[in-house]
Amino acid sequence: MGLRLAILPAVFLMLALACSMPGVEGRGPSSNYSEKFPSGERDYYLYVEPLTDKSFPLGTMLDNAMSYWERSDHVKFTKVPDSGDSTITIRWAHELDGPFSAYVVDKRSVTVGLGDSRCGGTWHRYDSRFVTSLLEHEIGHALGHLHSANVSSVMYPDVSDASYAPVDSSYVLDSGNQIVIPTCTFGTASSFHYEVLTSGGNPLNLSFVYDDVASGKLEPNHLKQYSGKGCHAVFTSDLMGTCTGVFSGSGLLITPVQKTSDGQRVQVVMEEVR
Ligand SMILES: [Zn+2]
Repeated sequence: MGLRLAILPAVFLMLALACSMPGVEGRGPSSNYSEKFPSGERDYYLYVEPLTDKSFPLGTMLDNAMSYWERSDHVKFTKVPDSGDSTITIRWAHELDGPFSAYVVDKRSVTVGLGDSRCGGTWHRYDSRFVTSLLEHEIGHALGHLHSANVSSVMYPDVSDASYAPVDSSYVLDSGNQIVIPTCTFGTASSFHYEVLTSGGNPLNLSFVYDDVASGKLEPNHLKQYSGKGCHAVFTSDLMGTCTGVFSGSGLLITPVQKTSDGQRVQVVMEEVR
């Protein structure tokens, strides 16, 4: 199941009709920038709001989205340091209200969510491919593109690769604790691939459980385990596998088989298989 992308439909449709002629894509650059960058109608001046969350790995996501349109739509983007000199602004939201993950207003002001709390009420970061798709789609609207009925188009209103960021965490396991990682997906059910690295020694038990892990409702004495291949194992060295048909909000559970007083280092990498 994809996730719907938002524009503000009534506003956007009115603007689409009003701005269907070339050369009126949003507001033109200021005179300063017109002199610096002799402007054709397909030059866009982009102001990108600095990320408040410095730990968010934006990396090349925005550059990839800009490159996509520069290649396919023959436009040219120039980043500007002041929003007053921009024709398109990109802003970030920790989480958007409502069902949408991104939107654009007036073919000019793009806002992109970086994660949400739909999985068990805990905020989870979006995967980089998903954020890139959101940027491509909303910048497409800012360039004047309407939705496409072609499912492989970036302008298709549902994102097919919507997913949360992979988990990559280290733990120290002893007799008093366990590892619990929620399986968060935009679909009803999905497959999750995992790799578990362990310093070895004590046998560990791995199982995917139906319990409402994302909400913290784990009932150790009444665990309902997924029975499929790859969904459970007892192991003493590094392990990898894939569990399929896992519902959103379920979880991966790793516990020591025997009581041990030694801290055992365990690293878990888990991601949804798309
Ligand atoms: Zn859209």
